[in-house]
This record gives sequence, C-alpha cells and structure tokens, in this order.
Amino acid sequence: MNFTFDTELDSFREQVRDFVRSHLPEHIGRRMRQKSFAPDDLHTAEWHGILAKKGWSVPAWPEEYGGTGWSALKQFVFNDECAALDAPVFPWGPRDMVGPVIYTFGSDYLKETYLPMIREGRYYWCQGFSEPGSGSDLASLRTTAVRDGDRYRVNGQKIWTSGAAVARYGFFLVKTDTRCKPQQGISFLIIDMKAPGVTVRPIAQIDGDDHLCEVFLDDVEVPLENLVGEEGKGWTYAKYLLDHERTGSSYIFWNKRELAKAREIAESEHRCGQPVMAMEPFRRRFAGVEAELTALEWSVLRELAGEKTRWNATAVASSLKVRGAQLQQKITDLQMEALGRKGLRYIAPEEMVDFPATALWPDYFVGKSSVALITRAATIYGGTVQIQRSLIARLAFGV
Ligand SMILES: Cc1cc2nc3c(=O)[nH]c(=O)nc-3n(C[C@H](O)[C@H](O)[C@H](O)COP(=O)(O)OP(=O)(O)OC[C@H]3O[C@@H](n4cnc5c(N)ncnc54)[C@H](O)[C@@H]3O)c2cc1C
Repeated sequence: MNFTFDTELDSFREQVRDFVRSHLPEHIGRRMRQKSFAPDDLHTAEWHGILAKKGWSVPAWPEEYGGTGWSALKQFVFNDECAALDAPVFPWGPRDMVGPVIYTFGSDYLKETYLPMIREGRYYWCQGFSEPGSGSDLASLRTTAVRDGDRYRVNGQKIWTSGAAVARYGFFLVKTDTRCKPQQGISFLIIDMKAPGVTVRPIAQIDGDDHLCEVFLDDVEVPLENLVGEEGKGWTYAKYLLDHERTGSSYIFWNKRELAKAREIAESEHRCGQPVMAMEPFRRRFAGVEAELTALEWSVLRELAGEKTRWNATAVASSLKVRGAQLQQKITDLQMEALGRKGLRYIAPEEMVDFPATALWPDYFVGKSSVALITRAATIYGGTVQIQRSLIARLAFGV
C-alpha cells in the first residue's frame, strides 16, 4: 500500500517549507537539533510569535479565535514539515491544551483575556495537575480552592510541573468540594504564576536540565472569574483536554525527525571500517523501528481522516500514546547505539549553544545523551503506559 497526499497538499507542503526555511531563526533550529525534545520554552514562544504574524500559530482552533480553517490533513502536513526542518512542534500546553478548554467551556471574559495572548505566544504556561501521591490516581489530588468573597484561596502542592519556573500562567486542577465523590469536587482554575503565595522550586533532572518543578501554593488568591466553566466540572474538562490532543500524544512528528537523525548518525559513524548503517544487526533493528513508525503514522492519518473504528476515542488516544512513547525510546536507543562511545560524552545544556562542532564531534552528537535519558520519561508523563494499557483493555476489549 502506498499512501500519497493529493497535489493540493503537496503544494501546501512546499509553501510551508519555504516559510519555515526563510523564517525559522538559526538559533532555534540549532537548539532543536541539540535538545530535540525540549527546546527552551522561550524559543518555543519566539517561534510561536513568528507563526502568529503569519496567522499560523493556532491552526486547529476555530477560525473565530484565530484558527486557520485547515483540514486535519493540512495540519498534519504543516506539523510534519515544521518538524522536519527543526522547528519546535509537539503538543504545546497553551495552544493544544488550555486554549481548546477555554474556547470550548470558558466564559467570554476568559476567551477575551487569554486566547489572544496564547495565539500570539506572549507567555509560557504550565500544567498543574500532578501532586505528590496523586499522579496516576489524579482524582485523589488534595490542593484546595475555597471561596472567599470574590476570590478563591488556593492551598496545596503540585509536582513535575513542566516549565513552571518560566511560566506566566498555569492551568490547575483543584478541589472545590471535598465532601462528594473525588471526580465531582474538582475544578479547573487559571492561576497567575507571579501571584503572592506561588513558590516554584526546580527539580534537578538526570538529563542535566531543570525544566520540571515543584509548585507550592500558599493561600494564593485567585479571582473567581479565573474558574473555567462550572465549579466541580474540572474532571470533565481535564479529560476533554487529554483526549483533545489524542493524535499529538503519538509524538509522530518528533519520532519521524529523530529517526531521520538516527539514520544520519548511522550513515556517518563508522565501526570496523564501515558505516554503522551497513552493519546487518543494526540495519535490521533500524528497519523494524522504521516499520513500526510507518504503522503509527498511518494509524494517526486514519484517525485524522475520521475513519470509523470500533474503539472509543480514549482507547485510540491511549494506543497512540503507548506506541509513540515506546518509539521515542527505541529511536533514541538507535541514536545511542550508532554513536557508540561518543554517546557517553555528556555536554551540559548551558555548554551546548557554543559547542564547537568538529569532524570528530559533529553537531549531531551534541545533546544526544541527554535526549536518550529524558525520553525514559516518555512512558510516564501524560499517563503511564501501564495506566494506558489498562484503559485499552477496559475500553477496547471490555476486560
Ligand atoms: C518528564 C515529565 C513531565 C511531566 N510534566 C507534567 C506536567 O507538566 N504537569 C503535571 O501535572 N504532571 C506532569 N508530569 C507528571 C506525570 O503526569 C506523572 O508522573 C504520571 O501521571 C505518573 O504519576 P506518578 O509519577 O505519581 O506515578 P505513580 O502514579 O505513583 O505510578 C508509579 C508506578 O506505578 C504504576 N501504577 C500506578 N497505578 C497503577 C495502576 N492502577 N495499575 C497499574 N500500574 C499502576 C505506574 O504505571 C508507575 O509505573 C510529568 C512527568 C514527567 C516524568
């Protein structure tokens, strides 16, 4: 079977390619090549601002809020091309998570206040869901928001909050009622990360970065109008948010780009006088991963084309997430194997930018050990693979 896009999509791809080539700042492209997974949040916001000027920053949003009106396949081609050219592409909190929740469930005030700033990429946002002891069992979260006149007083602690140290706003799950069933007492709040009582403490990570944070909320005052939708419906909105980006959780564009990088490394690095790619065991493993990635891409495309399946949306989302996360790890394993001993050399994030590439230590090697380490987390964040498998078993197979 040979899947092809129609000629209109091919010419659209050309248009996107020309734009990205002429507008992606070199420092962002280089940073993406080095860190692969998590470029600096400010770089992501900078690229988002460039896309905003073109009207391409929130392609999937309804047109009335600045969306493009592109078909799902056109959006796929856009993201595919951006990723291939080293522009930041992945589910991005403000654009792909809180934005859709606000325009679907939020008040006019929230839409008018926050959607323009998200569309223009003005600030970074973080997602405050997980707590110590409440990760997989998220409904057990204990952070409370108690009404006090025209505001809530929020108390509690979040953990693993990506990018909290650079975020201007956060979208948080909090308990507004502790007397009912856990899911029914949860509400969805937007919190100003600069508000008095918010303390952010970065966590040192194995990859050398400190993007993940603890967030302490001590009597933080949040205006009532920052409640999204109805009080006690936060669980419904959180599920909508997680399902909304269901094809994005496959990290298909990231995986495609990184497999291309694995190929580049394997064709450039030599062992026993031949390119690593020419070595039979490596070629076999590479071909296996490539086949799995192609299967994942077609699954995503079938989903985007609206093909009916017997599975419900959450089961589909979970299966794409499991496959995508496993592939992230398999692909970085290939990169490390192709690099051989070079993969053991660690370059700290702050040294990467000015790292002087040489024939022995080419640009493609910089940051790869960090990326291999942080992708171990792919099977944890956004819901662990064990939890996703249980969901698939229950929702798709009725087990
Ligand atoms: C890199 C990274 C970024 C993250 N970013 C964010 C973020 O921005 N915002 C945010 O809110 N959170 C974030 N998280 C947190 C993430 O969502 C949680 O780590 C995840 O949901 C797992 O929760 P936990 O860490 O508490 O592990 P636990 O829930 O304690 O799980 C520990 C282990 O037990 C297994 N387990 C637990 N329950 C079951 C069960 N019922 N059946 C079978 N196995 C089970 C799990 O699969 C896992 O292997 C991030 C995490 C990482 C690693």
